[in-house]
Amino acid sequence: MKGIFPINKFSELRTPFYYYDTQVLRDTLSGIRTEVSKYDNYSVHYAVKANANPKVLAIIRENGLGADCVSGGEIRAAVKAGFPAGRIVFAGVGKADWEINIGLDYNIFCFNVESVPELEVINELAAVKGKVANVAFRINPNVGAHTHANITTGLAENKFGISMQDMDYVIDVAQEMKNVKFIGLHFHIGSQILDMGDFVALCNRINELQDKLEARRICIEHINVGGGLGIDYAHPNRQAIPDFKKYFTTYDEHLKLRSYQTLHFELGRSVVGQCGSLISRVLYVKQGTNKQFAILDAGMTDLIRPALYQAFHKIENITSDAPMQTYDVVGPICESSDVFGKAIDLNTVKRGDFIALRSAGAYGEIMASSYNCRELPQGYISEELA
Ligand SMILES: *Cc1c(COP(=O)(O)O)cnc(C)c1O
Repeated sequence: MKGIFPINKFSELRTPFYYYDTQVLRDTLSGIRTEVSKYDNYSVHYAVKANANPKVLAIIRENGLGADCVSGGEIRAAVKAGFPAGRIVFAGVGKADWEINIGLDYNIFCFNVESVPELEVINELAAVKGKVANVAFRINPNVGAHTHANITTGLAENKFGISMQDMDYVIDVAQEMKNVKFIGLHFHIGSQILDMGDFVALCNRINELQDKLEARRICIEHINVGGGLGIDYAHPNRQAIPDFKKYFTTYDEHLKLRSYQTLHFELGRSVVGQCGSLISRVLYVKQGTNKQFAILDAGMTDLIRPALYQAFHKIENITSDAPMQTYDVVGPICESSDVFGKAIDLNTVKRGDFIALRSAGAYGEIMASSYNCRELPQGYISEELA
């Protein structure tokens, strides 16, 4: 267990830092490649917002994925990492003019448009450049996902997408415009989804919408079902690679893809989640009234998920094999929510021990902040520490 971390190398590094096990990342990517190669019209994009560490991006790009971006900065990061512009899609409810212009300048594959006002702006900006922008409409399918309320995105009450009732209207509007080309539909119902029934519900909804469009003789070449496949936070070793077979098979069995269509996916968490750990050191062990605290040098500024949405990360003392004791594991930030876990069993902890917060490769490093004037954590891949 402890053998998976090069502790001797860790001693030279300033904690806290992110550590990415590239073997796990490469195995994950190869798992995706194996499944996707069974279908000749599936295209997988990596959702850059999950982790934009350049070393991680480079490995993902080497494995042939496209990029799903939600900001101009992410488009720049993706291009810099070598993702071909023709395989970059750009989503987001609030695209600023300068961000749209970046997408136009690089000739990205597609803008996933979330409102008519946005469509109008893209049309205008493309006209200025004498270009025609590919657009897909992000439709809010009103499909719930069995996940945390803060990371479900496909319900009518969420801010994302265009309502199904408006779909026909926005397509008509787009087809009147000269500088946009309507090429597809886009969906994304949420994140950390482990119940395939949620994706089945999405497929059923898309089938209905496709039938409606066909009745109007509207053909679309691209269906994009977003991302959202979850990972096993409780067992990062036992299930390091998500069940991609089950995931892609679900779409193959339930989505009525037409022979001329390409099906796009935008996976984030399931690509990078399990390869990353936040490594920190114990600063102090403090006896409270009824409990003891392990106080780490990592805090919510380095990994905000537990404070932001009560997310669980497995915590391990990777220095010691001493008998188990129970701790509240907390950070040094001046916020009561700066807690990584309560009543956690760890090998007896002493000052200076390394603590690993597992499954932190997605929405970890990228969400770090400098609150309390802290320095941002560095990220290292295993290959550079070998
Ligand atoms: C966040 C996001 C994704 C990736 O979600 P994961 O749960 O990390 O797979 C995909 N598409 C869009 C539009 C997103 O906003």
